Amino acid sequence: HHARHAASPYSLGLTPARLEWREQAPFDIDFNDVYFSREGGREETEHVFIHHNNLVKRFEQWREDRPFVIGETGFGSGLNVLCAYHCFVAHAPPEARLHIISVEKHPFTSAALQQALSVWPSLAETAGRLMQQWPSPVKGVHRLLLDERVTLDLHFGEASEMLTGLDGRVDAWFLDGFAPGRNPEMWQTALFEAMATASRPHATLATFTCAGSVRRGLTAAGFECRKVPGFGRKREMLSGHLSLSSADAAPIEPGRAATPWYQPPQAAKKGSRIAIIGAGLAGATTAHALARRGRQVTVFDPHPPGSGASGNRQGALYVRLAAEVNAQSRFYLTALQYAINFLERLDPHHTLWQPCGLLQLATTGQETERQRRSIEAFGLPEALLTRVDREQAETLAGVTLADSVNSALYYPGAGWVAPGALCHTLMTTPGVHHRAHRVSALARTSAAWQLRLEDGTTAEFDQVILACADHLETFISSSWLPIQYIRGQVSEFYLDDEALAASPRCVVCAEGYTPPALNGVQSIGASFAPHDRTLSPRQADHHHNLERLAAALPELAQRLQSRAPEARVGIRCATPDKSPWIGPIPEAERWQHDYALLRRDATRVPATPGACLPGLWITAGHGSRGLVSAPLAAEMLASRLCREPMPLERELVDHVHPGRRLIRDLIRNR
Ligand code: SAM
Repeated sequence: HHARHAASPYSLGLTPARLEWREQAPFDIDFNDVYFSREGGREETEHVFIHHNNLVKRFEQWREDRPFVIGETGFGSGLNVLCAYHCFVAHAPPEARLHIISVEKHPFTSAALQQALSVWPSLAETAGRLMQQWPSPVKGVHRLLLDERVTLDLHFGEASEMLTGLDGRVDAWFLDGFAPGRNPEMWQTALFEAMATASRPHATLATFTCAGSVRRGLTAAGFECRKVPGFGRKREMLSGHLSLSSADAAPIEPGRAATPWYQPPQAAKKGSRIAIIGAGLAGATTAHALARRGRQVTVFDPHPPGSGASGNRQGALYVRLAAEVNAQSRFYLTALQYAINFLERLDPHHTLWQPCGLLQLATTGQETERQRRSIEAFGLPEALLTRVDREQAETLAGVTLADSVNSALYYPGAGWVAPGALCHTLMTTPGVHHRAHRVSALARTSAAWQLRLEDGTTAEFDQVILACADHLETFISSSWLPIQYIRGQVSEFYLDDEALAASPRCVVCAEGYTPPALNGVQSIGASFAPHDRTLSPRQADHHHNLERLAAALPELAQRLQSRAPEARVGIRCATPDKSPWIGPIPEAERWQHDYALLRRDATRVPATPGACLPGLWITAGHGSRGLVSAPLAAEMLASRLCREPMPLERELVDHVHPGRRLIRDLIRNR
């Protein structure tokens, strides 16, 4: 009997494992089964999963220009993953990389994780890094780094669902999970099929069980299995590999049969010359993500890093959830969690950012109701998002709130970031080279991209990433990739002690945002003027910012009233649907030709992959949410260019694809 309750059918919050400790080892109350045995747990992992996937030898011989990928069902306490990590570090050549994907429906709490792993002192250091980054139990993908060469993607959710939605391919499977008799829901055809679909042609698998139903299921899905001696008292287990016939190279990846247009183009070869145009948040995070993988990257920007809209003193890590769970909100929630993890890794001492918490006030009946519905629909754990009443909000902010405030949403792990300083830091990553030139044109030669620089010289690159939303039309102008310009003016006030006391202790968002004062300066922002690209400051915008401040933080507004602020104006770039453009750039005419049938009948999906401009990518349209979305966008592009699994579900990768309007218009026969 499972005493687990689900809030709403689409709720993203997951129920943590309910544990008991038996001889220091975790035992699951609901599944009535052990995670590992205290006696010989590690040896069992070595025997079943490491040895029977032949990992020592495969790691030793790994020379591919992409990471070796392990896929696991049931992360549990992480013992298998940590053993695989140590095996990799011991045996792989120094330039090799490892990528682990592990699915988990009932994550441990970090306290339980700590307790479970504390019995293995030799794993303590890696366990510590895992614990530091341990995510809240939220459905979706959580990307962690075990070290610079080893990535761990935790896919929280139901195994078959998450693996069906995986955008990536696996070399070796650890088919774990409680005994089939105690967990029949997991060991289903759908899981075995998802594994086969997400396998590389020579993928192997190992599982502790030799249940007939499992063997038959795996065989039917395309794995050749054999019984081999089990560990200790267990007589037999299964080891297998994907039979080649089921992995024949088809033009379309099995997971993209319904959306062939989004099939990713070729990755960047080792030694590719990579250019990024734009050193704002989008460009700097992407440069860092590629350099971290050992790539050399040249970033073109006539200005110092982070001087455009990304150069403000402070920005908020702010997302606005829809009232219902949709792809956009899931994208932004994944991005927020990733951004927090990324910032904490980059700057654990909080000089570039502060996870001081963020309040989103509701000052109207309508907004209060909307927030209530969001909270209910998303069902998120309190560590990520809670709803607080007026008094609690005042306590969190540490200052008086306006009378009109009814309640608020509170994101305890969010806060503010210094975007300009962040861009600077990212641009100093070894492997990133800044060239202070304006790129005036981009042309395709037979095998590369030629960048024409303002001084008349040219430079050639194999891969070019457009991260310059405000100059996008210089390089690509098309109705299906629109960018809207939104002028935003931030007001900055120098404070005396009295005014400082009225500054909030966490970020307060209402119509605008107000972070805690930084070095005696209070930023309030930002105005919002669509279709306006004027850079000169306006007095009217200061008034507007102050007015909105008064509607949230009246005391602070009053203290600022008589002071003359400084202005910072930035032009933000948004997309019509308010999700960014992240990915390869389609060859529109080819799409119009290849998918012409869709105009008449949207169910007739041809098996033709979407043609893209070779080696041309974009990360843009982040609007005023770039602090949240740019780090994940960077990780997506770097993962794609370096042939790694993606850091979020395929559905969400597609949600931000630059071809989405093109395909939508075809289907609507526009
Ligand atoms: N590999 C783990 C380790 O090294 O500690 C032990 C795995 S434990 C025996 C099985 C795990 O599978 C549990 O953490 C359980 O919550 C998870 N699990 C069970 N059914 C699942 C399902 N349908 N989808 C995803 N995870 C599931």
